Amino acid sequence: MKTLKIAIQKSGRLNEKSVEILKNCGLSFENYKSSLISTVTNFPLEILFLRDDDIPEYVQDGIADLGIVGENVITEVDADVAYLQKLGFGKCTLKIAVPNDSEVTSVSGLEGKVIATSYPVILQKYLDDNKVNAVVRTISGSVEIGPGLGLSDAICDIVSTGGTLKSNGLKPFGEVMKSEAVLIASKGMELNEDVIELLQRIRSVLRAKE
Ligand code: ATP
Ligand code: ZN
Repeated sequence: MKTLKIAIQKSGRLNEKSVEILKNCGLSFENYKSSLISTVTNFPLEILFLRDDDIPEYVQDGIADLGIVGENVITEVDADVAYLQKLGFGKCTLKIAVPNDSEVTSVSGLEGKVIATSYPVILQKYLDDNKVNAVVRTISGSVEIGPGLGLSDAICDIVSTGGTLKSNGLKPFGEVMKSEAVLIASKGMELNEDVIELLQRIRSVLRAKE
C-alpha cells in the first residue's frame, strides 16, 4: 500500500507535542533537523515538517493525507478536511480585547469600531453572528500593539494566560472561539487501513493519559 504522509508543525507551540504523540504510538523516526521530510522506519508513513498555516490546505489538497494543527487555523482557511480526533494539547481561546480604559465592555459595544486581528474570517463570522458591524483590519502578527499605535480600537487574538494582553494594557472579553490541536485527514482517507490503524494507536495513547 502507498506510504501515508502526515504534516506536523516544523517548530512552534505544536511541534513538540505532535512529535511526542507520534513517538508514543510506537513510530520510529528522526526528528526534524534540516530536512522537511522524515521517514518512519516501522510504519508506512512519512512526516512532513511545515508551517502550521500551510497544513490545512496541504491536507485538503491531498499533498499530505493527515495533519496535526490547531482548529483555529483550519477554521480560518475554511479547509475541507475530515476531523478525526481532538488531541488535548495546544489549547487556547480567541478573544476580543480592548485598552484598559476603553468604554467598550461587550460585543455590542464594538459597533463601528476597528478591530485588528490575524483571524479575519473567524472574527467576521463572530461579528455577523452577533449582528455587529465593525471594521476588520488584518495584520499578520503582534496584533496586541494595534490599539497603542492607533491602528485599531480593539483586537481579536489568541489568549492563553493573558500575560501578553496585560503587558500591552489590554483587557479581554468575549469568547470568539476555543481551539486545540486536532488530527485531520484528506476527505476519504479516513477509510484507509493504515489511517485507521494510526488513529487507533493515537486513541489508545490519549486514553492512557486520562
Ligand atoms: P508557524 O511558524 O508554524 O507559522 P505560528 O507562529 O503561526 O507558527 P505558534 O505560535 O507556534 O504558531 O502557534 C501554533 C498554534 O498553537 C496556534 O495556531 C494555536 O492553535 C496554538 N496555541 C496554543 N496556545 C497558544 C498561544 N498562547 N498563543 C498562540 N497560539 C497558541
Ligand atoms: Zn503559523
